[in-house]
Amino acid sequence: MRVAIIHNNEEKSQNVTAQLRELLKQNSGIEVVERDPELVITVGGDGTLLSAFHRYSHRLDSVRFLGVHTGHLGFYTDWRDYELQELVDGLCSDRDKSVSYPLLDVQLSYADGRKKHFLAMNESTIRRGSRTMVGDVYIKDELFETFRGDGLSISTPTGSTAYNKSVGGAVVHPSFNAIQLTEIASLNNRVFRTLGSPIIIGAEEWVEIRLRSDGHHLVTIDQLDLSDEKIASVSYKVAKERIHFASLRHMHFWHRVKDAFIRED
Ligand code: NAD
Repeated sequence: MRVAIIHNNEEKSQNVTAQLRELLKQNSGIEVVERDPELVITVGGDGTLLSAFHRYSHRLDSVRFLGVHTGHLGFYTDWRDYELQELVDGLCSDRDKSVSYPLLDVQLSYADGRKKHFLAMNESTIRRGSRTMVGDVYIKDELFETFRGDGLSISTPTGSTAYNKSVGGAVVHPSFNAIQLTEIASLNNRVFRTLGSPIIIGAEEWVEIRLRSDGHHLVTIDQLDLSDEKIASVSYKVAKERIHFASLRHMHFWHRVKDAFIRED
């Protein structure tokens, strides 16, 4: 098995990476590589796993991910730094088991006709800095509403516990092949009206935000920021690609949500 290790710059992550590399090397069936891995192990936090996803997003059909966290519990990082031996033993006995989750397909269209395509694992947001963002929200080519406010967030089910949750979105179980559109501080008064609640859009549908406001808009795709005055519209749908995680052991989704947000110990 060809395994790549991606870590953040913290000293603890570098130490854990060195230990993991040694343990992996002791197994003749495992080769630690940088190019064309079959498994990517990240050491750090959710941000480390997000950047590894973007680094290997062109090979999602042939790579699985696994996260070791060196700080507090992450959402994508199930393994603790003191469980490395168990992790390596699991890899040797259970080589192909995986679980997959939906991703967000993002297409930016520019006023000059250019198009750019991205995948997001958590979410994409559209904003206009301190100015009011105005955009027509189309669902499946039909005008749904005109949004005015700080912006919009479109998230995946696994991203629903990230930024989406902070702006009042629902937590969605990743077995739903869907995306969620959540408002960020909408203007709602006698003149301007939006639905005012998050909506869940299924895999057969798509959402397009046609920007009406002038000037620079900021579009985020997980950790990536794109700022341009020529962005005309952004389309979102459930991606045909999915992310695969090595599932050496199962952690119940709602248990993970409880662990991250409710449990006090
Ligand atoms: P980071 O790694 O420091 O992540 C920020 C926090 O978000 C961390 O506590 C991380 O554990 C948590 N997080 C990330 N993905 C998560 C998920 N799917 N479910 C639950 N928690 C999650 O910062 P980064 O490298 O910039 O990561 C970017 C992500 O951080 C964005 O995709 C966004 O979702 C999240 N974020 C959240 C807020 C917020 O909640 N107000 C603000 C900025 C960024």
